[in-house]
Amino acid sequence: MKKAIVIGAGFGGIASAIRLIKKGYKVELVDRCNNLGGRAQFFNIKGFKYDAGPTIITAPFLFEELFSIHNKKLEDYITLKPLDVWYRFIYNDGTYFDYEKSIEKTILNMKEISEDDANNYQNLLESSKKIYDLAFTKLAHQPFHNLSTMIKQIPFLLKFRSYENVYKFTSRYLKNEKLRRAFSIQPLLVGGNPFETTCIYSLIHYLERAHGVYFAMGGTGNLVKALSKLMKEIGIKITLNTTINKFVLKNKKIYSVIDQKGNERKADIFISNLDPLHLYKNIISKNNSLSLKYKKKYAKHSMGLFVLFFGTKKKFKDIKHHSIIFGKEYLELLETIFKKNELPKDISIYLHRPTATDSSFAPKGCDSFYALVPVPNLESKSILWEKEANNFKNHVVKVLEKKLMPGLKKEIVQEFYMTPLDFKNNYLSDEGAGFSLAPFFTQSAWFRFHNKSEVLDNLFLVGAGTHPGAGVPGVLSSARVLESLL
Ligand SMILES: Cc1cc2nc3c(=O)[nH]c(=O)nc-3n(C[C@H](O)[C@H](O)[C@H](O)COP(=O)(O)OP(=O)(O)OC[C@H]3O[C@@H](n4cnc5c(N)ncnc54)[C@H](O)[C@@H]3O)c2cc1C
Repeated sequence: MKKAIVIGAGFGGIASAIRLIKKGYKVELVDRCNNLGGRAQFFNIKGFKYDAGPTIITAPFLFEELFSIHNKKLEDYITLKPLDVWYRFIYNDGTYFDYEKSIEKTILNMKEISEDDANNYQNLLESSKKIYDLAFTKLAHQPFHNLSTMIKQIPFLLKFRSYENVYKFTSRYLKNEKLRRAFSIQPLLVGGNPFETTCIYSLIHYLERAHGVYFAMGGTGNLVKALSKLMKEIGIKITLNTTINKFVLKNKKIYSVIDQKGNERKADIFISNLDPLHLYKNIISKNNSLSLKYKKKYAKHSMGLFVLFFGTKKKFKDIKHHSIIFGKEYLELLETIFKKNELPKDISIYLHRPTATDSSFAPKGCDSFYALVPVPNLESKSILWEKEANNFKNHVVKVLEKKLMPGLKKEIVQEFYMTPLDFKNNYLSDEGAGFSLAPFFTQSAWFRFHNKSEVLDNLFLVGAGTHPGAGVPGVLSSARVLESLL
């Protein structure tokens, strides 16, 4: 029986392990954290529960498949609850727009902002569907390590003006700035600037429409638990608290990997769920191909994230499950983060209130939240997080108090936060980026890190920095690509 070692237990690594064992490999999954899930860690502190990472579950069929290939049913392990209001977008002037499961209601809500844009919504959706039909359904699940595969896509890329950005694409259909913001925000969910990310990522809009937006009851952490149960049932060996920091190479192959305690593990194939920039800069730094050297030198990382977790002793009943609170400016904010590399004052916040759907997330009468704020990654040398994080946290609380949650400060009974430094230290994310490489056109498909290593014959890569890209559907798809490569 051939052996496979999967290094990294993010969703990409977990999905790979589940697919590999089905292919007949003996599989060991190794991760440096105390728990499985990678960025999808889960905290339970005195009855207040928090997902640390992903909260919005889309394309559930990609999870269902992991169970069905082993003749099991996802619903026997966890409930994915469809949400009715997907996102509440809250603007600086206090107005809001609810983006809903029901297209009719969404259009009615749009009409209150702009009649013309509401009438054009179906056209925007139709265009997004055309991109989705090819870019997600087909290309996201096929390997892109051969340049010829990329060249074949040129007519498609030109037809859909992939050289244009998501904001421009959205602006072709919508004229109102509030609605343009709401419908161009998708790249931020995978680490990119909507003014720089190829419009191919507009497919996310249709992906949500096609499959819905869900919450995993008990949290995304519970989804990780469900996968963990499945992995134990099907015989995957799981090793935690173990960092692989050295590869022993022989004849363009990995012979074995060594962990921080000096333990050696041998296998026939190795799957890396690491940030590829960390992998190629720090673990296999020598004898890289020209394209790898180029990628390492010129890589544009996704932005960093500041995440404030807090529990309140009262319920903020009117707050929806997912709110996006815009600052005054949009373009200026994105330039401050992505170009000037400065800490913004006029911030935008994604606010997660799981208690809106699942009361088990907080003690009775209380609420649990996380507020996620896009910030520069650690390439910004002017931000000293050790010194500035606490002030920044106070700023986030003030903005929330002013815009949505009056009297918040005195209601908070528990709080802690993560900065880009934690992403670097906990997950070995290069420059503490929230989502590895940014989703630019020049960092997508063939240009992204390949799922089959350019330099080592028995090394494969999955996860956010590899094709097709970040986000839970993206990394689950990378494991599908891996399967097709084997
Ligand atoms: C705050 C936040 C919110 C998000 N929200 C959403 C959302 O709502 N919906 C969505 O679809 N996506 C969301 N995302 C994106 C999504 O979570 C990620 O893109 C995806 O989970 C990354 O999965 P991955 O397979 O790349 O692995 P990761 O989650 O990056 O896990 C990799 C694992 O490998 C481990 N590792 C690294 N180096 C080593 C080593 N040398 N040895 C052993 N182990 C190692 C790391 O510690 C980590 O545990 C969010 C991300 C963040 C950070």
